[in-house]
Amino acid sequence: MKIDEAREVRTTCPYCGVGCGVLAKVAANGEVTVRGDPHHPANFGRLCSKGSALAETIDLDG
Ligand code: SF4
Repeated sequence: MKIDEAREVRTTCPYCGVGCGVLAKVAANGEVTVRGDPHHPANFGRLCSKGSALAETIDLDG
């Protein structure tokens, strides 16, 4: 994979026991976006408001 390509990582929301599947995409400029994993049996692509805001919690300042 070239360094300037976006990459998408399959992971899980950490907030509650439902364990929704999340696809987290890291763009070449470092921007992270998340979406529900359409193939995950817990959520089939859906995320609640907390899961939808996961990318807003990613920050190296803290
Ligand atoms: S997206 Fe919402 S329902 Fe799903 S694991 Fe995260 S907090 Fe729980």
